[in-house]
Amino acid sequence: MKYISLRFIKMEQLCPVLPLEVLSFQEMKNEQTLESVQMDQLPELIQDAIRMGKLAVERRPTLANLTDLINHLLKQKIQVRFLDRHPTDQHVRAQYQTGKHPCITIYRSSIQQMERFFRQQLAPVDPKELYMLHLFHEWFHHLEEVEIGRIDRKLAKQYRQRRFQRIVIPQVREIAAHAFTQQMMNLSWSPLLLDHLLSFQKQPHSSISLREHFHQLKDEFSKMAEVTSS
Ligand SMILES: [Zn+2]
Repeated sequence: MKYISLRFIKMEQLCPVLPLEVLSFQEMKNEQTLESVQMDQLPELIQDAIRMGKLAVERRPTLANLTDLINHLLKQKIQVRFLDRHPTDQHVRAQYQTGKHPCITIYRSSIQQMERFFRQQLAPVDPKELYMLHLFHEWFHHLEEVEIGRIDRKLAKQYRQRRFQRIVIPQVREIAAHAFTQQMMNLSWSPLLLDHLLSFQKQPHSSISLREHFHQLKDEFSKMAEVTSS
């Protein structure tokens, strides 16, 4: 099978390639986030989370293939395991468990779903790279625990010091993990874009195409960015 590397996958053939900021903004404004953050703080908060994710890339070795990555994780005493699917929640695609024996679990059902998506929509990709997508993401959560500190706590502290009200936003950890993964894998699109595409596929959108859906997101964001910057 001839594979295309994720680095050369052209998402723009499928949808507008919305950056991580826009996608995160969309997710966060839909949730209870706004109970603890004001709308006009959101763009800045997202930028800060992205910056922290990218900062964590510095001084990491280049881990260009799955074997190197797994060896690197094992050296850090992280257990890596692959299971067919999550026992109870099919939405869980990968997991990190902290503690005395840190462990990353990847569910193959997720790899198969992504593999199918690329094959049908764009081009066949190497499943090994799809494992890497999850591994880098979960590794970031490990680094939060043992090295760089939890992103949600760091940002909460920063924002408190800058007289903003108390914030409790677990999603900033995900935003940082996505930024880290994208940078480590040198991708031109955010892994969160892929998540959006996969979940769009699952919903019944009879009247609206994927492209329209993404254009709507983009427009909404531009309008909101205008409001928040004025
Ligand atoms: Zn995560």
